[in-house]
Amino acid sequence: MRQELLRFGTVGSPQTTSASGTPAAIRHIRELGLDHLEIAWTHSVSVTEPTCLQIRETAREARVSLSVHAPYYINFNSQTDDKLMKSNERLFAAARAGFLAGATDIVFHPGSYHKLPPADVYPIVRDRLGAVVHRLTQEGVAVTLRPETMGKGSMFGSLEETLRLSHEIPNVLPCIDWAHLYARTANGSFNTREEFDQALQMLESYLGERGLKQVHFHLSGIAYTPKGEKAHIPMYESPQRFVDLLQAFIAFGLAGTVGIEAPEPFHTADALHFQALYRHLLNPIHAAQETED
Ligand SMILES: [Zn+2]
Repeated sequence: MRQELLRFGTVGSPQTTSASGTPAAIRHIRELGLDHLEIAWTHSVSVTEPTCLQIRETAREARVSLSVHAPYYINFNSQTDDKLMKSNERLFAAARAGFLAGATDIVFHPGSYHKLPPADVYPIVRDRLGAVVHRLTQEGVAVTLRPETMGKGSMFGSLEETLRLSHEIPNVLPCIDWAHLYARTANGSFNTREEFDQALQMLESYLGERGLKQVHFHLSGIAYTPKGEKAHIPMYESPQRFVDLLQAFIAFGLAGTVGIEAPEPFHTADALHFQALYRHLLNPIHAAQETED
């Protein structure tokens, strides 16, 4: 039986969690048989220290790994000092609290091009992110920062940009959102096994084994317009070729975590289905025998 190297979970508490709060969500992830939770501090980080410690302890007991999705209002290409300072503070807050809560990875949206040429924006984002990483390292906040691939051509966050950042700055690795990469092309391309393999070859050429063995992905169905991402949709309603995508994950021996984003009421169901599809593709004969028993 081939070993499972990818841990599946939800981005945000699974919709079927009966009680409020992150500890309840972690326990529910375990009940569901999932392995990971991405804590969605997407509007603000307003968590107390005792709660962080409680989250940490609950996750340790439940053997659930944790990441944090930092607030949406982060932009490393902010156009004023004041906006940049507030943006940085949001990422600092997410990283410090996340680290205290036992999260190893902090996902964030890197920013907008503000109609500047992408090549001009790249060094700005790299230098500013580098400064944030430097300060967190000095503070002893040992987390991996994960710039996410973004679903609109107007947003900083192509696959190549996130890989370059990861190559050039320590403690940075990409959060590859496959739905966003598909929507970003806005023409239905980036949906074949060949293209998935090329993307993973690029991941390997920039980051080597480290890139393949510590992945953090987002998976979901997605609808797009000519401008890119429109909305997340249920996996079975999406035109994305998930079987080919997961077969590529397996062929490259990827290890790490996969956070599922899906609109309600599909949130929990899609996470379970992606995990089941992965298991089936990993061990098709074993899966079939188990069902017969
Ligand atoms: Zn995101």
